[in-house]
Amino acid sequence: MDAVLEQLVWRRASARCEYCQLAQLHSILPFEIDHVVARQHRGRTAPANLALACYYCNRYKGPNLSGIDPASHRMVRLFHPRRHKWHAHFHWEGPVLVGRTAIGRTTIEVLQINHSDAIAARQALIEEGVFPPRQVRRGR
Ligand SMILES: [Zn+2]
Repeated sequence: MDAVLEQLVWRRASARCEYCQLAQLHSILPFEIDHVVARQHRGRTAPANLALACYYCNRYKGPNLSGIDPASHRMVRLFHPRRHKWHAHFHWEGPVLVGRTAIGRTTIEVLQINHSDAIAARQALIEEGVFPPRQVRRGR
């Protein structure tokens, strides 16, 4: 992937995971550029199909496009950072990410965003006063 495209993705995301909002600054593991629709499914390497993802979100997401909504048990597509508004699908309850919609719930489940280690790490960031990020809250 060319450097200009990589820079665009990093800048657009403000160096935060576009799924769980973790900042690269607060993660030891390097963030990755996610093909929202994986190359395996003919997803293009173009700005409209790329998102910045933390190591864990990207690993758990893999080439998945969908999952099973834990509430309705129906197949639901995953959150698409370029097409969906983050705040329409998710909100924070302390260190726990809560899905507002089937897409939100399913994405949290497939990407294991509420893994106990992630919750513990977010709790520490909350206590430091650096999480959740202010600049991505609605209306600011
Ligand atoms: Zn993440």
